[in-house]
Formats: sequence, C-alpha cells, structure tokens
Amino acid sequence: MKPAGIHRRQLLKVALFASGAWAVVPTRTPRAQTLRDTRVVVVGAGIAGLAAARTLADQGVSVVVVEANAHIGGRLRTDWTLGVPFEAGAGWIHGPSRDNPIRRLADAVGAKTKVTDDDSLSVFDAAGRKLPDPELSKINADWERLIKRLDDALESDDPRSLRDAIAALAPGALKDPGVLWALSAYTEFSKGGPIEDLSAPLHDDDGAFTGADVVLVSGYDKILGPLAAGLDIRLSHPVSAITTANDGVVVRAGGGEIEADYAVCSVPLGVLKAGTIAFKPALPPGHRKNIAALGFGSVTKIAFEFAAPFWDLKTQYFGIVTAAKGRWNYWMNYRTFSNSNVLLGLSVGAYAPVADRMTDAEMAADALAVLRGVWGTKVTTPLRVLTTHWSTDPYALGAYSYPRPGNRAAQFDDLGEPVADRLFFCGEHTTFDHAGTTHGAYLSGLRAAAQVAEEAR
Ligand SMILES: Cc1cc2nc3c(=O)[nH]c(=O)nc-3n(C[C@H](O)[C@H](O)[C@H](O)COP(=O)(O)OP(=O)(O)OC[C@H]3O[C@@H](n4cnc5c(N)ncnc54)[C@H](O)[C@@H]3O)c2cc1C
Repeated sequence: MKPAGIHRRQLLKVALFASGAWAVVPTRTPRAQTLRDTRVVVVGAGIAGLAAARTLADQGVSVVVVEANAHIGGRLRTDWTLGVPFEAGAGWIHGPSRDNPIRRLADAVGAKTKVTDDDSLSVFDAAGRKLPDPELSKINADWERLIKRLDDALESDDPRSLRDAIAALAPGALKDPGVLWALSAYTEFSKGGPIEDLSAPLHDDDGAFTGADVVLVSGYDKILGPLAAGLDIRLSHPVSAITTANDGVVVRAGGGEIEADYAVCSVPLGVLKAGTIAFKPALPPGHRKNIAALGFGSVTKIAFEFAAPFWDLKTQYFGIVTAAKGRWNYWMNYRTFSNSNVLLGLSVGAYAPVADRMTDAEMAADALAVLRGVWGTKVTTPLRVLTTHWSTDPYALGAYSYPRPGNRAAQFDDLGEPVADRLFFCGEHTTFDHAGTTHGAYLSGLRAAAQVAEEAR
C-alpha cells in the first residue's frame, strides 16, 4: 500500500509549524485604534493578500485591496458549472489538523469536507492493464525507498536535480515505468515542478501539518468570505507600478494612482518573474536574484462530466502510466463524494505547461485519449468539460513555486523580507516550509500584516 498518499507533504517529514505568534486566525484586537491613521494598499486578492488585508483592517488600518482579476481568490477558485465543485486551483486541505489555519477557516464557515482516501487507488499500465495489488504495492514501496535513500545520501547543498541524483544513485528507477509514474504523480504533483528541474535535496524538505487530506464538498473558496467581508476591494485593477519613497508608497492600478503609507505585494512568483509590475526603485539585488532563481511550475486540471460512469464507483483515484511523463496520469473520481459522473484529470511536471498551451478542445481530446487507453470505447463523449491553463494566465503564470537545483530554502523566506520598511511581501512563494499551499499563503499574509503593524506602531 502507498504509505501516505499522493500529497506527500507529510510523507517523510512531518513538522509542526504553526507555533509562531502570527500563525493564528486573525481576530479583532484591543489595539484596533492604534493603527487608525495608517493606510495600506494590498496588491492581489488571493488568500495571502486577503489574510494580510483582513488582519490589518481588524486593527483599524485603512486598507485598499487592488486585484487584477474580476474576482477574488487567485489560485483558490471554485467553479460550480458542473453542479459540484471544480477547484481550478487548490483542491485539498493538506494536513487538516487543528493547527492548520485553513481547517479553522473552513470550520468557521461550516464547510463540508470529505477525507480523500489515497490508498483507494487503481493504477493502469501503458497498455491499459490494471496493475494487480502486489505490483502497485511494489511501486509504492520502491518509490518510498528511493526517496528515503536520496534523503539519507544527499547533502543539503547538493546542486543536482532530483532526476540527476536518481540517475547517479539508483539509475534503474528511471527505467522502471511504475516508479517514474510515482515520481510524477506523487512528487511532481506535490512540488509543482518536473523532476528534471526540482532540487534533489529540497524536493521533500518542507513542513506539513498532520491529518489525512480533505476536499471541501461545499466549495473551497467559501473560506474566503469572512476574510474579504467589508474590505475595500477594487477588482479589475491590474497594478502596473509600485513606487516606494521615504514617506510612503504610490501604487499605479487600473489607470489611477493610490497613495498609502505601506504596500503589501502578494502577486504570484510567476508575475514577479515576468516583471509586469515596475518596482521603483528597482527591488534590491537579493529579491531580484531570488525571484529569478526559484522555480514556478504548472499543474493542469481537466474535469469531464459523463452521462454515465464507466469506471469503478468506489475507487477514489485512478493512476495511468502514460508514455509522456506527467500526461493526465492521475484522476479523481467524484462519485466517491457526490452523485456526479465527473472525473478530474491532472497533468503535472513538464507536461503541464504543454497541456496549458492547448486549446480547450485539444486538451479534452488529449485527456480523453488517455482515458480511452484504459476504458476504450466505454469512454463516451463528455457532456461538459472544464479546463485550467495556469501557466498562460497572465495573473498567475504558473501554479506554485518549487525549489530548483541549487536553490536554498532561505531564498523563499527571504522573498518575505520587507523593502525599505515600506513594501512588504506575501504569497505562497515567500515561505519555504509551506510553499505551494493555501495554508502557506495564508500564514504568509498574517506575517506580512504583523510586519506592517510592527513598522507602523
Ligand atoms: C492547480 C493548483 C492546484 C493546487 N492544489 C492545492 C491544494 O490541493 N492544496 C493547497 O493547499 N494548495 C494548492 N495549491 C496552491 C494554492 O492554491 C496556492 O498556494 C495559494 O492559493 C496561493 O495564494 P496566494 O495568495 O499566494 O496567491 P494567489 O492566489 O495567486 O493570489 C495572488 C493574486 O494577485 C493577483 N494579481 C496578479 N497580478 C496582479 C497585478 N498585476 N495587479 C493586481 N493583482 C494581481 C492575482 O489575480 C491573484 O488574485 C494549488 C494551486 C494550483 C494552481
């Protein structure tokens, strides 16, 4: 059996992280009056920006949130077109223990959750044959042993990619289609980058909360409601420039300018890399270096609604060993938590950006071909199809950040360092321990708010 499931953030290292003073769900504090004259512009209304804005507003700060999209949420967005939640971005609460602030936000809105059973998994080989249980168990055991072996063998500053380190240490693993599938469906999905570009020592070195992952059957983005309530949020206001001076900041957004004492920038790493926001003066060399150096990959989702199921209704996940690594190699069965005949497919690693560049029709044909490799003519024409294209979305330009070969963990955290005591940063990419998660993004927003409050007092 697979030891810990697809979201292996807790596979080999479980670190409890949420003990910092800022790692709490924000509440109104008695200090509310002290920051009354402070003005803050928060750039981006994803969960990190909203967490920062909510916390500051609750302390009396005058906050304006400027968001490029016509909706809040960023990479946390629920689409109800199919009558069941299609989570375009985050789908699971990873490690929903009581320490996990996302669990607490979910509880606060009475969210309905469902534990997903990572061990309820059938894997099919490239010929469409269902692997017998012992074969699947062996793949999982081999993959786990490989990861442990790497952990034991590698120095923390090993500059190689995960693939190169495996090639040197256990070359046979790369020739084993089952282990390659696991490296893609588990590792590449979890980290958001291809094994060819993932840091060998850092690929599983992050922290995690405990508890079996859950999906939110009442919709993930409902957790944003209390964070956004009552805030001055200006949608469809793409920010093009942030100017920092000794006495304040000017944020250029949607054709106008907003002056404030401080700015909190929560835009994704992909947007920072693209340079679509002009920072004046230019960001310090350390920030620029880290923005360029860290990885930002994609994860592509497709949901098919079929008239009738052709798959086993009780199996939570289907793995498919595809010749192109990362191509629609993992599927979630909605019938395990709803009555909808929906299959959600994932492309990861190097294949995700390839899928992102397809048209919706091309992507559907590509993913259906993979399903037909297993279920043949039983796969009917879907009634409805939903897709994502994160790496071509101009306000995301990828899915989540990951450590590239030669990166250091501190480079993520350093991106959370303020500039000139006026410009603050948050977002999933500003915390190594919880990069690529909603809880990491949320906690980073609380951190940025604490930094601003500290400065403003
Ligand atoms: C496909 C996918 C699957 C995922 N799965 C999971 C999961 O299962 N569990 C989990 O915990 N996490 C998951 N994540 C990661 C999680 O969604 C993110 O870490 C988190 O939502 C990031 O929040 P953020 O606030 O840092 O960034 P964002 O949500 O991206 O917010 C940044 C905001 O800035 C806005 N913006 C960008 N440019 C500008 C501009 N120029 N001007 C103004 N605004 C701008 C954006 O529109 C966006 O609203 C997944 C992500 C993706 C994409």
